[in-house]
Amino acid sequence: MSALRRLRHTGACHCGAVRFEVEAPAEVEALSCNCSICARTGYIHLIVERQRFHLVQGAEALAEYRFGSGTARHYFCRICGIKPFYVPRSKPDGYSVNLRCVDRGGFSRVDVVDFDGRNWEAAFAARRAESDGARG
Ligand SMILES: [Zn+2]
Repeated sequence: MSALRRLRHTGACHCGAVRFEVEAPAEVEALSCNCSICARTGYIHLIVERQRFHLVQGAEALAEYRFGSGTARHYFCRICGIKPFYVPRSKPDGYSVNLRCVDRGGFSRVDVVDFDGRNWEAAFAARRAESDGARG
């Protein structure tokens, strides 16, 4: 059970203007996506409920980028260019945190799973079916 207890993990962009905290267990599953933007940034997704994410500082340093369906809100630090978190198309009421920007000391295990974002609709449906199955 202790593996499921949520801890507060701290994260930041490269220059430190943007700082945040995310509540997540010590053992998490993260997604590596091959879509046009994630492939270029090397983004690793830790997707959390909105209330598990806390922007500590730097709202004024964030710029927003949208493309394609326009659903996802891609934030990046306008000073250093790093993308520490964003609002994903797969969970517009939550956040995807870039695990590469989080202090990894608080994690005992990170399973990185491939997400076929180039075929987004099929990949999203497959993940949803999988989690429905897991709930039984
Ligand atoms: Zn920055």
